[in-house]
Amino acid sequence: MDIPASARIPASVVDKVSKKAQQTLDEVESFVQEKCIPADAVFAQQLGREPRGRFASHPKVLEDLKLEARRRGLWNLFLAKGHDGKGAGYTNLEYGLMAEQLGQSQIASEAMNCSAPDSGNMEVLEKFSNASQKKEWLAPLLDGKIRSAFLMTEPDIASSDATNIRFDIRKEGNEYVLNGSKWWSSGAGDPSCELYIVMGKTDADNPNPYRQQSVVLVPSRTPGIIVQRMLSVFGYDDAPHGHGYVTFNNVRIPASNVVLGEGRGFEIIQGRLGPGRIHHTMRCIGAAERALGLLLARIHEPTKRPFGKMLHEHGLVLSQVARARIEIDSSRLVVLNAAIKIDNGNAKLAMAEIAEAKILVPQMLGRVIDDAIQVYGGAGVSQDTPLAYMWACARTMRLVDGPDEVHLLQLGKRESRRAAGVRERLERQKELEGQLFQHYDVQKVDPLYMGWTSETKPKL
Ligand SMILES: Cc1cc2nc3c(=O)[nH]c(=O)nc-3n(C[C@H](O)[C@H](O)[C@H](O)COP(=O)(O)OP(=O)(O)OC[C@H]3O[C@@H](n4cnc5c(N)ncnc54)[C@H](O)[C@@H]3O)c2cc1C
Repeated sequence: MDIPASARIPASVVDKVSKKAQQTLDEVESFVQEKCIPADAVFAQQLGREPRGRFASHPKVLEDLKLEARRRGLWNLFLAKGHDGKGAGYTNLEYGLMAEQLGQSQIASEAMNCSAPDSGNMEVLEKFSNASQKKEWLAPLLDGKIRSAFLMTEPDIASSDATNIRFDIRKEGNEYVLNGSKWWSSGAGDPSCELYIVMGKTDADNPNPYRQQSVVLVPSRTPGIIVQRMLSVFGYDDAPHGHGYVTFNNVRIPASNVVLGEGRGFEIIQGRLGPGRIHHTMRCIGAAERALGLLLARIHEPTKRPFGKMLHEHGLVLSQVARARIEIDSSRLVVLNAAIKIDNGNAKLAMAEIAEAKILVPQMLGRVIDDAIQVYGGAGVSQDTPLAYMWACARTMRLVDGPDEVHLLQLGKRESRRAAGVRERLERQKELEGQLFQHYDVQKVDPLYMGWTSETKPKL
């Protein structure tokens, strides 16, 4: 390995990264490069080929990596400062840099108990659940004993607008009765997925559409739950976690399983998505670095010499490399800036910066992987490189946690609100300009003014 990750921290943020975090960052990098990336292919083999078996298996190579990560103290790094000392206590900026390293391998995040959706779910439980809910669900999740899924999206509505949710959560005595279907429930295929965190409507008639929803904790083995099928992503099944289509038929849970209280669902999902988007986007930066690394390896491959030259000797290819470098480095700064803004205040104060990162980074990642695929030719789309699967994952990032358009709309609205101030300033500048013309006694004449009429127009 060339320069360690701690020596590559961007100059504009390095002063904000503690010595301890820099040391952990290097340990994470070495664990990912030396242990996780070489294990990615073994993981795929151990999953096996038979579809049903894939979801029932827990590849040994990953379980062994988890033991080693714990031994090395590389566990629950995502749980930022201020969580009662349960997590590693790094800032969002510091963990963001580590998440970049995790993004280089398919299995590194789970090996360190930092993978989505569990990391986001643990944050929800840590932030919003009561002591008994924490004991029942957060403790085993932090311990890596169980896994979880977050069930919000529904098949029959436009879920990017969560006010559309129809899932019914009805109170009956000391219980809630749950009815409806959810899909894209990531993690639901994992045999150790014991907890569903479910968002639905407890008060569909509330005039405030943002107070109709609640979040409840549902043990995944409760009678009445049917996992109908698993959804594929461009043909990949994402085993062993997968993405489930889950139906609830009169599923009964104790009323005490509501998180924070009825009508607080929106508050919870907003709290979940802020730091989670930083984690996702920094993993994307790591994936982009991996793709660029693969691209560089290929263009220096001596046996591949189209038109008498190695690929890196073709100017067109070098300009792709340079563009990728610029896009990755500038995207990283956008994400780290959002992380610092969260660290300095909270996720709500960093909404615009988070949205910028969420829109920019997955699109950048898609372009870099696409360029890498291109230089590999046919091999790039085959199973012989990780690029095809990486591209499939990258493309979904423009949908998960809300599609690009929703974030663009929010960001556009926010930017547009500046118009009144901008117009005021332009008016003032015009006024000052007029005063200057008067002061210097200069006449304002349009430089393209011709000043002729049909009668005075010159003839050739
Ligand atoms: C791999 C993967 C994993 C996922 N994991 C989970 C999970 O664990 N839990 C979960 O609950 N969900 C999960 N999702 C679901 C994901 O969050 C939703 O797919 C996403 O929010 C979009 O909702 P939708 O599919 O209902 O699309 P819709 O809401 O129907 O939107 C479809 C399209 O409409 C367009 N659109 C929407 N709003 C606007 C607008 N304002 N202006 C212009 N165009 C617009 C966009 O192009 C959008 O893609 C996952 C999805 C994928 C692909």
